[in-house]
Amino acid sequence: MPNELYEKRREQMFPKLTAAQMERLGAIGRRVPTANGDVLVEPGQRHNDLYVVVAGSLDIALPGMRGEEVLTILLPGDFAGEMSTLRGVPGFVHIRVREGGEVLAISEDKLRDLVQTDAEISETFMRAFILRRMGLVASGQSDAMLLGSRFSASTLRLREFLTRNNYPYLNVDVDTDADVQVLLDRFQVGMDEVPVLIGRCGRVFRNPSIEQVADFLQMNPSMDDSKVHDVVVVGAGPAGLAAAVYAASEGLDVLVVEANAPGGQAGTSSRIENYLGFPTGISGMALAGRALVQSQKFGADVAVACQAERLRCEKRPYTIEISDGRVVHASTVIVATGARYRDLALPNLAAFVGAGIYYAATHMEAKLCENEEIIVVGGGNSAGQAAVFLASGCRQVHIMVRADGLAESMSRYLIRRIEENPRITLHTRTQLTALHGENHLTGVTWHNEVSGQSESCDVSSVFLMTGATPNTAWLEGCVALDDKGFIRTGSDLRAEDLSAAGWLLPRPPHLLETSLPGVFAVGDVRSGSVKRVAAAVGEGSICVQFVHRALRELSVPVRQMAAA
Ligand SMILES: Cc1cc2nc3c(=O)[nH]c(=O)nc-3n(C[C@H](O)[C@H](O)[C@H](O)COP(=O)(O)OP(=O)(O)OC[C@H]3O[C@@H](n4cnc5c(N)ncnc54)[C@H](O)[C@@H]3O)c2cc1C
Repeated sequence: MPNELYEKRREQMFPKLTAAQMERLGAIGRRVPTANGDVLVEPGQRHNDLYVVVAGSLDIALPGMRGEEVLTILLPGDFAGEMSTLRGVPGFVHIRVREGGEVLAISEDKLRDLVQTDAEISETFMRAFILRRMGLVASGQSDAMLLGSRFSASTLRLREFLTRNNYPYLNVDVDTDADVQVLLDRFQVGMDEVPVLIGRCGRVFRNPSIEQVADFLQMNPSMDDSKVHDVVVVGAGPAGLAAAVYAASEGLDVLVVEANAPGGQAGTSSRIENYLGFPTGISGMALAGRALVQSQKFGADVAVACQAERLRCEKRPYTIEISDGRVVHASTVIVATGARYRDLALPNLAAFVGAGIYYAATHMEAKLCENEEIIVVGGGNSAGQAAVFLASGCRQVHIMVRADGLAESMSRYLIRRIEENPRITLHTRTQLTALHGENHLTGVTWHNEVSGQSESCDVSSVFLMTGATPNTAWLEGCVALDDKGFIRTGSDLRAEDLSAAGWLLPRPPHLLETSLPGVFAVGDVRSGSVKRVAAAVGEGSICVQFVHRALRELSVPVRQMAAA
């Protein structure tokens, strides 16, 4: 077996269906006779059916760069499938008949209906699917391999993308892996060409964009460009995922487009401790992973590496232009594009992003700076969390803030942890003034306003956790924004905003509705939002009831067009 997880949670990963469950599945599945050696699914093939073994047995084998490994043998009462089966995207394993007999083939549509209507089977399937994906990721065995350097920003970008999308891949660090030259020679790749993604059939991609990776690995379900969706959710952070779960569970046709990976800012948090229901805390990635699965269970389609470039708001249905050149059409839109950290005004900052300058503090970044002295810039909760988390593996953590202290900006529980941790030093009224290094950050200079002194230090990791700016550039000219670029909604919209927008409806905008009818804004991107996971989730779920109302108004002229 490839890893411990398979051993520890084997029973939950591969549970036996009861006779009553088999009978219910028998009523919706097709009976298919099987013969020894039949191949039911190839790796990389889109799952059309989920297979349940009635008689005989199936081998589930995982191909990898170092050969194929049989993960398990399915016997009568067992079922195949994992998260990709539910998403309708290609899976990772070979499903071969070991001993002929019979299987039940459950189609994708029937599977989705089943997990929404049969609570008992849904629980068994969903748990198994999630654990099987976790097992695949933890196995480190895959026919996708990323060759890259820990000192390269492009490598970090791809690793983050694959990791945050829970995609199993083999990671080869060209700086430390002993076999690296053999691999480079085998795939005819030069050291200067990394990062390189090697996929099925030995296909090589040199320094690909995340869009190319998503396309190559077929990470997204197929999208019908001519379809008008009831609602398109833009952004799959906590707000967007909550909107997707509620909208899909209420029967709406939902498409989520996400520029990177699900989870948003929360997905970059090592541990969220104040989200209701998780007394011991939960990592942002785990929270996002659960929400993503939940949205897919209810039938939402989620497309990653799909950045909304522009909203065409002249007429309804609205059209969203996507970065890969495609468009999607929507009767209503939920804008959940959140915010990103503000950069420091340092001239060579961009050169070190991912090569010493980081915007997230997850286990991945923590590994890069183990036993080192590091800097966290910022005085908010995200900075506090990052400092406390990183202090467990780093030699010394310096927190730098421009303010006099943390009391105004950080939760009390985090301030106490910082004060009590001998590995963390707080520098108030201090700013970074210079970054040093060639390809990777090797040192910084900071200035303290009180002493008037500047100091330089050999530091190779700086975590920037400063204030946020909203991701609203793609909405240019379509919705009213406040003076910082956040989206005004509901009663915050002023009469002049509505008149400038040509608002025609006899009603005022709904709660969370923008100055454009049927377009809603939720979470951190919204003017006046609270900038917390719970608030984002709350807003994403609340707005769905107003989406229903907006859908009922579709035939009414809602906006006076500028040209009219
Ligand atoms: C490190 C860190 C730790 C935190 N810890 C906590 C905590 O402990 N407790 C707490 O309550 N809050 C915490 N927060 C704050 C919390 O994460 C945010 O308030 C929350 O994530 C906001 O959710 P959102 O969905 O509105 O936006 P975001 O999380 O910002 O998500 C927006 C999503 O939209 C996508 N996007 C952006 N532009 C586009 C586009 N044009 N097209 C398609 N997609 C796009 C982004 O890629 C992103 O995935 C933390 C934040 C950070 C960064």
